[in-house]
Amino acid sequence: MKIDVLGCGSAFSLNHTTSAIRIIDDQQSQWLIDCGPTVPRALWNREVDINAIDVIFFTHIHPDHCAGLAVLLNHWKSFGRVKPLQIYCQPEQQTVLVNQIALANWPYTGLTFPIEILASQPTWRWRGWQIQTAFAQHEIPSQAIRIEADNHALFYSGDGRPTDATQALMAGSTLAFQECASWLPLAADASHGDYPACLALCEKLALNLMVLYHCQDADRPAIAQACALHPHLRLSDDGAMFDLARPNRLQTAW
Ligand SMILES: [Zn+2]
Repeated sequence: MKIDVLGCGSAFSLNHTTSAIRIIDDQQSQWLIDCGPTVPRALWNREVDINAIDVIFFTHIHPDHCAGLAVLLNHWKSFGRVKPLQIYCQPEQQTVLVNQIALANWPYTGLTFPIEILASQPTWRWRGWQIQTAFAQHEIPSQAIRIEADNHALFYSGDGRPTDATQALMAGSTLAFQECASWLPLAADASHGDYPACLALCEKLALNLMVLYHCQDADRPAIAQACALHPHLRLSDDGAMFDLARPNRLQTAW
């Protein structure tokens, strides 16, 4: 299973694509996690085939995590995608996605491929993958996700500070992506992660590799410097590639 970091940026980053990853397994099944406004361009730059992505999972529907959906669907429609698409999202947040699907080919309603919107559950199976979700501490409900396949586990936090539930999903993962907006500590009831708390969690769980993302532009240099000194922490970057079988080996940029 390979992880392609499409973007690691915060909501209004001047330098980085909005946070999203693409997951590709050995059978070439592909998931996209989140689709912010600059994510479609990252896919086009990689020349990802219009039929390649099977599923889009939304951690939550803040604009920097979902506002690219209409554009991506419009692109797929314009170039004749035929593969059915599944979208997983919390049931209470699906209306926003329905509106984006309506925008994708407005005023027409049809696309060239069917879309199935499914409710993300605490746990379910997808092909050979075991999926689990848990809620982080964020402004609106935001789901972290753990995907287990081929004896490896990927964790992706979505937005928000870790909770007991997301820490339980993160424990024992091969590769954990954790939202870390701030270099300086934030209040315990804040809506985003911070470096001191991420460092403490990485050490508490004895993680193999915690990759920090969604950092504020101004905070990246300090976080990068600190991560460079820690064997189990890394600052994410647009275009970084991870192989879940060898997560600690730095892959060349896409
Ligand atoms: Zn958010």
